[in-house]
Amino acid sequence: MRLGRGMTVRRAALAALLVLPFVTSSQAQPVPTPVPRPSPSTAPSDPIGALIAQQSQSAPPAVIGMRLAEQTGSTRIVVELSDPVRANVFTLTSPNRVVIDLPEVLWRIGQDSKPSGKGIVQSYRYGLFRQGNSRFVIDLNQPARVNMPQLLPPEGGFGFRLVLDLAPTTPEEFASHAGWPNGSRIGPSNAVAAIPAAPVVAPPPLVAAPAPAPPAKSNGPKIIIVDAGHGGIDPGTHGGTGLQEKDIVLAVAHELRTALESRGGRYKVKLTRDTDVFIPLGDRVKIARANKGDLFVSLHIDFNDHHEIRGASIYTLSDDASDREAAKLAGKENMSDVIAGVDLTGENNPVASILIDLAQRDTMNRSVRFAETVLTQLPVATMVRPTTPHRSAGFAVLKGPDIPAVLIELGYLSNPQDEAEMETTGWRKNVAEAVAKSIDKHFAGAVPQAQRQAAAP
Ligand SMILES: [Zn+2]
Repeated sequence: MRLGRGMTVRRAALAALLVLPFVTSSQAQPVPTPVPRPSPSTAPSDPIGALIAQQSQSAPPAVIGMRLAEQTGSTRIVVELSDPVRANVFTLTSPNRVVIDLPEVLWRIGQDSKPSGKGIVQSYRYGLFRQGNSRFVIDLNQPARVNMPQLLPPEGGFGFRLVLDLAPTTPEEFASHAGWPNGSRIGPSNAVAAIPAAPVVAPPPLVAAPAPAPPAKSNGPKIIIVDAGHGGIDPGTHGGTGLQEKDIVLAVAHELRTALESRGGRYKVKLTRDTDVFIPLGDRVKIARANKGDLFVSLHIDFNDHHEIRGASIYTLSDDASDREAAKLAGKENMSDVIAGVDLTGENNPVASILIDLAQRDTMNRSVRFAETVLTQLPVATMVRPTTPHRSAGFAVLKGPDIPAVLIELGYLSNPQDEAEMETTGWRKNVAEAVAKSIDKHFAGAVPQAQRQAAAP
């Protein structure tokens, strides 16, 4: 059966499906997978399992449309799919959100409808949350109840449709139903495993188990952790032409890896993400530590309502922000986990505990020294902000206590000139080479200290 956007619904035999209402009494609201009409000869004993098994042998299901209908007193969200999938809907507070968890899907949404911003829905986003798990996150302007979510079979040229009706409710009512599925608090690293509607095959853990005690540092290759900001469901900022921060910083990260690996084995490079996938901020720090990084470089791109502002700037960690702009930027970058719908209660919240102790002072000094070195090289490749290009604030991703770390904002996607440059491979290569040269200089300067450490008893 052909659909509106050229997508094909593969299992046309499933067109006659039962449509079942959600279970609304529990916190987690699994969307029932439609059950084929029983046939005496071929009815499988486990139709849901059979469907999933079938699906795993073919291309992943695709989300092919997203529509939003705002009416007085309610808002309807329709997510259109090429295949039936197991979905899990739940709500979260602080800020109020509705999360729709899906197995990993392809995103083939053409034109989606944007909320007016005045109704129940403030905004929404979608993307890969982690391997095997795609996700929609809907930000709410007010507490809302999810009424009777349903999965509808293909009809009238549309594919399978997941329909959610949101209606205003009281904060108390919203809070009483909000929470992680099964009532369990789910952290960034085990989110999928605890969701009953997750794919049959559990994805591998995001971060490897803690490594044994690190061996003493040798004079071998330096380990450079290159952290492309955002990813997956969190696109970061975007430019006038639709260029997305997450894509540009990943491209620069790949160029930086190439530049460093072409330096005769002086560096080993570990990317916190190699693809368009979301990684929680705390996990980025864990990846750096698990790989015993010598230096952490986080790549981002900024946005400013004053579109004339352009140029790169660099940030290091501090408990008091150097200025209001830096504080605001750190607040924005630290929102990544909230944007992706990660549980931020208790110890899972890397933003809540930016406390810098004395042991971290030495690391901070080395971070500052590296930041200043970058500012000697970067102007060769790209424009750098003319005033105070080095600032500091409480960036959660720079929190690794023992690894010097900087966050580079490579420019502004709000500035048309910066955006035009960012689109070119030449700019990406030049910026990567400038950062690689800064890393050369940083470690060249550190040799005497490394030798002293090696010589110490
Ligand atoms: Zn960013």
